[in-house]
Amino acid sequence: MSKKNLTCIVCPNGCRLEASFQEELELRVEEITGHLCEKGPTWAEQELTHPVRTIVSSILVEGGDLPLVSVRTDAPIPKNAGFDVMKEIKAATWRAPVSIGQILIENPAGVPCNIVATRNVVPAGT
Ligand code: SF4
Repeated sequence: MSKKNLTCIVCPNGCRLEASFQEELELRVEEITGHLCEKGPTWAEQELTHPVRTIVSSILVEGGDLPLVSVRTDAPIPKNAGFDVMKEIKAATWRAPVSIGQILIENPAGVPCNIVATRNVVPAGT
């Protein structure tokens, strides 16, 4: 049996978890300790078997009252897809106006999610 220490990122308590697992054809979690609530083991098992992340970034805006619009993925994405998704976000440019919730990129890098705006950017001078 293998062991791994993880810091739970679900809430600010940051519990130090210890996961015990078997790894043969696929990883099987046997026990998780150190959690203050049941969200910890659920998060740790996902982190060990299918880790996901929410991407938060910004996209360049032309002709807006701000040069950038903050964006995020509208669903968690596989951790190993983060680099390719960020590359697509960094290469994108949008023309003002931009509205909160507007989809700016569909399926970035082929990942089943959207990149959505998290603030408004109005045209400059309006
Ligand atoms: S185990 Fe529960 S209390 Fe501890 S950090 Fe995770 S969510 Fe927060």
